[in-house]
Amino acid sequence: MKIKLNKISIAIMMMTSGFAMAAGGGGVVADPGAMQGKHFDEKGKAPSSYTVELQNVLRKTLPFQDKRDFEESKRGFIAAPPYKTIMADAGNVAWDMGSYDFLLQGKDFDSVHPSLQRQAILNMGYGLYEVVPGKIYQVRGFDLANISFVKTNSGWIVFDPLTAKETARAALELVNEKLGKRPVVAVVYSHSHGDHFGGVRGVVDEADVKSGKVKIIAPAGFMDHAIAENVYAGNAMTRRMYFQYGVLLPRSPFGHVDQSIGKNTAAGNLGLIEPNVYINQPYEKMTVDGVEMEFQNTPGTEAPAEMNTYFPQFKAF
Ligand SMILES: [Zn+2]
Repeated sequence: MKIKLNKISIAIMMMTSGFAMAAGGGGVVADPGAMQGKHFDEKGKAPSSYTVELQNVLRKTLPFQDKRDFEESKRGFIAAPPYKTIMADAGNVAWDMGSYDFLLQGKDFDSVHPSLQRQAILNMGYGLYEVVPGKIYQVRGFDLANISFVKTNSGWIVFDPLTAKETARAALELVNEKLGKRPVVAVVYSHSHGDHFGGVRGVVDEADVKSGKVKIIAPAGFMDHAIAENVYAGNAMTRRMYFQYGVLLPRSPFGHVDQSIGKNTAAGNLGLIEPNVYINQPYEKMTVDGVEMEFQNTPGTEAPAEMNTYFPQFKAF
């Protein structure tokens, strides 16, 4: 069984590194003309008068005067790192937040649906945020998902360590630099999607998981579903993603703009460490280094293996 799992882990890394690379556009396709509003393709056309007319109707009829999301998404901001690119260990650019800076010019792009543009600007949040004062922090804009850090007596519990080792590692470094260096005592995988576990090797050493020094906590069925989705269905998922998000296009008002829940997935090293603690009951309580957690299995929701976590001490969910 152990040998079988190791083989599967290797298979996941091989199959999904293609996924991760492709997700970032085979590296990152930045477009130097994007800031000037130039089309990246010499044959590319400006939107037709019909498209412009439709976008203008949408701008007037959708509730864009409601700016609450812009204010709320800035709440708790602590600091952005001094860099906008994160390199992959393989030498390519894994992440480039600057490639989306064309969105921050205050312009309306007729080539982008106004709702998508609004969401794409909201997703430009970049850096370290405080969610619950002194207790829960988040690094945003380093990958498709957010990575969360919960302060324990002596260290951090890391929630959902992103898609790539390099972006997860950079997030942990930012947290330790701004909030004081602490060891990672546990990792929680909320569900079986790659953007919530793929960067785990950037925040923990597998030997510490095997020895039990670091807990990796996951919902029931996590390994089966992580493998089913990313290996058995890996090629189909990857192709779907190319069409769904246009991730192979240059980042431009005429190309890739956003992925709605975040900018994109990082084009780095995607890996997996098998959890050493499973939440098998519908509802389980656990205390890790002074932090109480109440887990609720929610299979078949956004992912086939998934769970919620409530922190009663912080009234955080
Ligand atoms: Zn998901």
